[in-house]
Amino acid sequence: MSFSHLGLAEPLVRALEAKGYSTPTPIQRDAIPLVLEGGDLLGIAQTGTGKTAAFVLPSIQRMVENLKRVLPTHCRMLVLAPTRELASQIAESARDYGKFSKMSVTTVFGGTSINKNRQDMSRGVDILVATPGRLIDLVEQGFVNLSMIEILVLDEADQMLDLGFIHALKKIVRMVPRKRQTLFFSATMPTSIRELASQFLNDPKTVSVKPAATTAERVDQYVTFVNQAEKQALLTLVLQSEDVSRALVFTRTKHGADRVVKLLAGNGIAANAIHGNKSQPQRERALGEFKSGQVKIMVATDIAARGIDVSGVSHVVNFALPNVPEQYVHRIGRTARAGASGVAIAFCADDEKPYLKDIERTTRQKVPVRPLPEDFMNQAAKIKSQRVATIGADPAPREDRPRGRPLPRPRATHAPVKTADARQSGGHGGGGRPVGAGRPGGGGSNRRGGGGGGGGRGPRTASV
Ligand code: AMP
Repeated sequence: MSFSHLGLAEPLVRALEAKGYSTPTPIQRDAIPLVLEGGDLLGIAQTGTGKTAAFVLPSIQRMVENLKRVLPTHCRMLVLAPTRELASQIAESARDYGKFSKMSVTTVFGGTSINKNRQDMSRGVDILVATPGRLIDLVEQGFVNLSMIEILVLDEADQMLDLGFIHALKKIVRMVPRKRQTLFFSATMPTSIRELASQFLNDPKTVSVKPAATTAERVDQYVTFVNQAEKQALLTLVLQSEDVSRALVFTRTKHGADRVVKLLAGNGIAANAIHGNKSQPQRERALGEFKSGQVKIMVATDIAARGIDVSGVSHVVNFALPNVPEQYVHRIGRTARAGASGVAIAFCADDEKPYLKDIERTTRQKVPVRPLPEDFMNQAAKIKSQRVATIGADPAPREDRPRGRPLPRPRATHAPVKTADARQSGGHGGGGRPVGAGRPGGGGSNRRGGGGGGGGRGPRTASV
């Protein structure tokens, strides 16, 4: 099966050839003909499955077949994404896929100059990729007009709800013409997402690639039980001894990520951190250095890593286990991209064992145990003694440790929303919860009861 068999026009097929893609992925094979027909689509797929091309390619074709001049400040296709990284990734792909079809593409997201956004939108654009907060700001200031939209895409809808974008999404959908094509993608389909989809979509066809929980088959997974205090030494050892081409290390918090980077530097290992406290240029530089292979280790929080699409990630290290099991699947899916294989190693301290259980239940797989190396304690002591003084002792900072029992899964549909994009730049600024912090108190029951404090629904993570 080739792309032209799916009904794609020659300029698009040529663009795919230029990227070296000859065979459609399952989501592309199933979704492209449906989108070409013009109907609504509900896609259950996560990043890494090729879903960007699945919605961008046929949309470009439809716009080319019905050529229209976009008016100033307008766009014909709007793609909403939860994070700036994902938004720029989608825009980059759209530019590549549309390069022989003369499609203009631009992005608007928080953390960048709003004046630049205004300029970019002043003449209008075919494809606009945006995060919800900044888009609403621009619409309200009159610099973006959504009344010409023909195709609306909501990407990573579950993540958008987790980030509290529900009201922003509803607001945007109200600004878009009723007569439109809507494409809605989510990695998971909890009831809240189904409800949202039923509000936004009109008689959609559903396309599903493997459930998120089973997508990690090509990844060799291990868990090593290790004390919090020894995790840094174990990480150093793993990075020094394994054949690492690129490693993505996950911590739960921004502070945790910075600390890991500093301590690695103390042992002569260069790494960058990427998280919500980093400025946009810092994030872009970190990502660029990681992509080019200049810096092989990237330490990231979940939200910041969402959408990072870098091929050749050989190792994913869960320095801290996520307290939401689906995050584990998203994390390890950063390796084994587009058919490659990879290794995912989890460091599990005693207080994280309940998280491991949750993960194993969700993935319906037991994660094989890889014991600590023989004489690990000696090696760890040596690593610590060799470390050039950086920022003190090893134990993970308090905020990177699990607090109490795992908390209930997010039911983010009632999460509050901030209109400014402060939430995308790590949640500084008062008012709402920080990005990735669990939703504040509200309805719902604590599945496990007990932990979490504050009425049983305290934040799930400190911040990202
Ligand atoms: P996505 O799920 O859209 O983030 O895509 C995941 C990765 O697969 C990206 O690096 C894409 O460029 C790549 N990709 C998408 N479609 C194909 C294809 N048909 N063949 C090979 N790689 C692809």
